[in-house]
Amino acid sequence: MKTTAGTLFFGFFFGFFMLLSFAPQGFSWERHESIMPWVISDLPPHLATVLGAPLGSLPSAQTNKAFYQNLAKTLTLNPGVVLAEPMPSPARPSELLTGSAIDEPDKGMDENLEASADPENMRQFMGGTQGVTSKGFRHMYFGGMKLGHPFATFQIPTHAVGLSPRRIASLSLEAKNLIKSGNIYWGTRILAWAMHLLQDLAQPFHAVQIPSLEMVPWGELFNWPPSKAFSTLVSETTRTISNYHWAYEDFTLLLIAQKDLRLSECLKEADKKKTVRDVPKNLDKDYPGQLALAVAQASTDLGSDLGKAELELFGKGLKFRGVDLPKNQGTPNYAELSIRPDLLDARQALLAVNCKALSNAIWASRGLIDWAFQP
Ligand SMILES: [Zn+2]
Repeated sequence: MKTTAGTLFFGFFFGFFMLLSFAPQGFSWERHESIMPWVISDLPPHLATVLGAPLGSLPSAQTNKAFYQNLAKTLTLNPGVVLAEPMPSPARPSELLTGSAIDEPDKGMDENLEASADPENMRQFMGGTQGVTSKGFRHMYFGGMKLGHPFATFQIPTHAVGLSPRRIASLSLEAKNLIKSGNIYWGTRILAWAMHLLQDLAQPFHAVQIPSLEMVPWGELFNWPPSKAFSTLVSETTRTISNYHWAYEDFTLLLIAQKDLRLSECLKEADKKKTVRDVPKNLDKDYPGQLALAVAQASTDLGSDLGKAELELFGKGLKFRGVDLPKNQGTPNYAELSIRPDLLDARQALLAVNCKALSNAIWASRGLIDWAFQP
């Protein structure tokens, strides 16, 4: 068979991405708790009422432990995890949603699971089967490569991977059933877990494998011998994409902590600024899963703008050898980047993406609360 440059090129790309067991170590918004005040502000009156109603006496730590053990079976969670009691101690559902419960899905429940939890073997592409990155397959969703947009949606495997929309559907349903049965405490807590996954999907790095091909350290290809160059490129790409993933989340957290005016002005109008398409409320049981897919699509659409903005703001330095943000090596000076006059345009571009992505997270979270508390 005649080997054309084209087949060589394709073969190379395919091999490269097959080996790229994509394992970002940063996960989602740095702290989901920081987004929640926006979610529960400005709720329609009927929701403000249910979320503000007193929870009454809380279950004991022992009861909660047993409850989790049971959930671990029905929802295939890691049974070895001991969750801390939600902080601060919630007096009403709104406080459960704005407290620590929203970050619980990052505390181990989706990690180191049995093979039966991953029958389609997605973990090999999404962070492996062990350690903190092994939750990736439930916290991310890559919707598949679209031939019309091959670069913006480039991914391996080319079909959709990630259980996030399905997990959002099953957690939401569990939450709604518990709320209906009168167990508002656990219903709301599990609703927070579903919402966590939904907010993850609003972070473009959870819906796009590689936001910009410029984030790939192609220079590694010129190493010698070629066999080594190839494997180095794979591991180095995992590192550089993780760096941009982390930098984006750290910088966003800084903007939120600094109470950046433009960002907070935008988020006050999240319902208008969101780019995720409307999802019909009358979908009943299918609503959470469809909402998740709509959010993932909106994130995919934001991917290339995010890639461009990050490369302008953080530059190519995050690709330099030895820079490894998850290991605290080469962390950029975010405070300086947030005020440097020459980076104004880059900051604005990143802020524009942030405004849309966080608005999507906020709008979708409200939709899920509304759905879960509907009789
Ligand atoms: Zn997460």
